[in-house]
This record gives sequence, structure tokens and C-alpha cells, in this order.
Amino acid sequence: TEACLSEIEGAGALNAFVHKTPEIALEQAKAADTRIKSGDAPAMCGIPLGIKDLFATKGVATQAASNILEGFKPEYESTVTQNLWDAGAVMLGKLSMDEFAMGSSNETACYGPVVNPWKVDERQLTPGGSSGGSAAAVAADLCLAATGTDTGGSIRQPAAFTGIVGIKPTYGRVSRWGVVAFASSLDQAGPMTKSVRDAAIMLGTMCSHDPKDSTSADIPVPDFEAALTGDIRGKKIGIPKEYRLEGMPAEIGKLWDDGIAMLKDAGAEIVDISLPHTKYALPAYYVVAPAEASSNLARYDGVRYGHRAKLAAGEGIVDMYEKTRAEGFGPEVQRRVMIGTYVLSAGFYDAYYNRARKVRALIKRDFEQVFAQGIDAILTPATPSSAFGLGEMADADPVAMYLNDVFTVTVNLAGLPGISVPCGLDSKGLPLGLQLIGRPWEEGDLLNHAHVLE
Ligand code: GLN
Repeated sequence: TEACLSEIEGAGALNAFVHKTPEIALEQAKAADTRIKSGDAPAMCGIPLGIKDLFATKGVATQAASNILEGFKPEYESTVTQNLWDAGAVMLGKLSMDEFAMGSSNETACYGPVVNPWKVDERQLTPGGSSGGSAAAVAADLCLAATGTDTGGSIRQPAAFTGIVGIKPTYGRVSRWGVVAFASSLDQAGPMTKSVRDAAIMLGTMCSHDPKDSTSADIPVPDFEAALTGDIRGKKIGIPKEYRLEGMPAEIGKLWDDGIAMLKDAGAEIVDISLPHTKYALPAYYVVAPAEASSNLARYDGVRYGHRAKLAAGEGIVDMYEKTRAEGFGPEVQRRVMIGTYVLSAGFYDAYYNRARKVRALIKRDFEQVFAQGIDAILTPATPSSAFGLGEMADADPVAMYLNDVFTVTVNLAGLPGISVPCGLDSKGLPLGLQLIGRPWEEGDLLNHAHVLE
């Protein structure tokens, strides 16, 4: 813990830790020492972690990287972080992210962008997003692991951009209670770690059935670490042809082929599969996610949390709502709220929101059909490129940024577990990741496949 705290002090330029909690960390570390000496400590005991700014942490600033939550200190602890503290883990502080987890580059954060510790020449690169602070902090050894959340790829894409492991579990595996909501039917928390084994241990600690989240599943949490046998002989790996995008960089294609060869060498059978509705996933996601976000973000009205605009004489409560939200939300969040409100409006609900829900059901069915054929896991690239330069995409059309999620959003729409594993470097020397998608509730098996790719 002390080593991490001093690394964090020296790494201000990365801008990853935005609220530091050294007093809490040292106190928790001391308690962990005592517990370890008593000989009865779980694996997470004494492990120093960074926590994404989206998790409510009691008495500690929780801002979702938004000005609208400035000064907000929750009275409660999220279930996920409580589970980690109960296991003896240590909180070093809160990590930057895209505002309300909307973005793929960590550039929408009210704290300014996070810098990827990986570099080519002098250009600063994005660590990806929205869990960009988590990814950068783990990759730069500021903490041993971090929490992330993933609504459309926000654990897996930054993990790929920084050469670390990130898993989004099956929807319902991890409690959403105390995690600031973006799109509630898609959001899941998960670990971001240096190895698959660390991910297995930390995920097991984060999971629990939670009556405070009605979508939290009441099913047993297996020992994920015990599943890491490295034996995948006879397993069937699906390679979906729709993910071989036109114009995909040759290096991404090669990475994918190398991954296929590794799994084959380990004794798996490689099967060509089809997920025919893949091309509709991004448009469906960018209707469903903003729709839910517009509803979830209605609560930030200047009354209940954080920032409240100053009013001029004669201005009333409607002015207060409008001014507070205009001042507090950044441009990307405002764009999502407007898209969401539009697609849910009476005149357009059937044309957009209901249509997107139907597409979502078809995407889910594509996966169900493939798993019914006996496929154990699906292998795809995690991202269409390696990390891009800061400012490079943010200044372009917002849709260009949305295209980053092309390989990851299907997994959230279908509620499946997905993992990103670092699988080498591109010709510029930047990390690239492969994604494995698993059967629902089979995170252990998924982690075992990922372990073979490490
Ligand atoms: N990049 C996607 C978005 O902006 C996904 C974000 C996420 O998973 N939280 O919506």
C-alpha cells in the first residue's frame, strides 16, 4: 500500500487518481496486516485497489467524473466495494472515467483526460474509456487492480488499449447497487487486473446475490480461480464471420488469427459461426443506452445531489433545473440525454426505442443459437485498433468514437460475459487485446480460455 501511494504521488501526469484516500488506505492496510497474521485472510486481503469514480464510497467523493456531482459524498457504500473491503482489500482512491461512463477515450471526464502510460514517440495516447483511469492506473502499477464498469465495452476496450485483463461478467452476476446508473439493463461492474488469475480472484470477491438490486441473480458464485486448469481440449471455439469487418487493419486480422492458432494448439476445435444481426448492434445500442441514460439522469436536478446553479432575481424552479443541468452536464452527456429523450418521445417510441428492443432480442437469439450448437466460447478482436492519440477522435464526429464499440456492445445487449486479454503488440509497439465471449454464468470457463491466451 505504501509503495502504491508513493507511485501515485509520482504519477500525477497520468491524471488517473482523482480523489486520493491515503488515510483510509493505511488504516485498511493495517487491519489487513492483523488479519493476515491471524492466518485467516482471503486472497484479496491487503491488496491495494483503485476504484472507478462511478462506485458510491461512503464519505468519499463520488462524482462519476461529472461537475453535476461536485461535492457529493455518499452516505452509503456500493455492494461491490463493500464486498471488497469485507475481504480486506485496500482503497487507494477514486479513478477518473468518462463522464457518467459515456465515452471511449476518458476525454469527457470533468477532470480532464487520462493519459495512457504506453507511448509511441512523444504523442500522448488515450487509455480508452470509460474506465480509462482504472486501466491507466493498473497498467502503470499505481495499484494492483481496479474496479471498472462496462455498459458497451468500458472495461474491455480500455483493458485492450493498456495491455491488461478486463472482464465484464454475465448481467446480474455483480450487484449494481451503489453504482451510478448509466443504462441499467446493460451496466455491469467487473475487475481490471494484470492477469487472468487476478481477475478470477477479484471477480469472485465482487460477486454476491444482493436483494438491494432486483436484477442481481440468486445463483451460487463458483470458485473462478479453481476453473483455471489451462485445459481446453475438445472445447469448441466459434469464430463469427460478421466480425471480420471490411477495412479492418491487417494487424487486427493477424492478431485474431494468432489467437485462433493458440487455442487450436491447446486442443480446442475451431468452428466458423454466424451471428447475422451483428451489424445492427451499434445502432441498437446507441438507442437503448441513451434512452435509459436520459431516464436515469433525470434525478440530477440541483435538488438532491451536488451542484446547484445560482439563480438571478425572478428566476424560479424550472430555471434552476435548466441552469443546473446545462452547467453540470458536459456536451456528450447532454447529447445522450437529448437522443434518449427523443427516442422515448411519444411520436418516435415505436420507430426507435421499440425497434431497438426487437433488434436486441434478435442479437441475443443469435448467441443462443450458437451456444445451442455446442460452442463454448467465441473469439473476436477486442477493439478495431490500438490506442489512438488524445484529441484525435474527440474532435471528430461523435459517431467515429461510437465505432470503437463495434466488437463489444453485442455482449452487453445479450447480457453475456466477455473478457479482453492482452495478446501482443502492434507494429507501433502498442498493446492489442482479443475478446472471448462466454455462455451465461460460465465465467469460470471463459477465464480458463482466456488463461490459455495469456
Ligand atoms: N463507449 C460506450 C459508450 O460511450 C460504452 C461505455 C460504457 O461501456 N460505459 O456508451
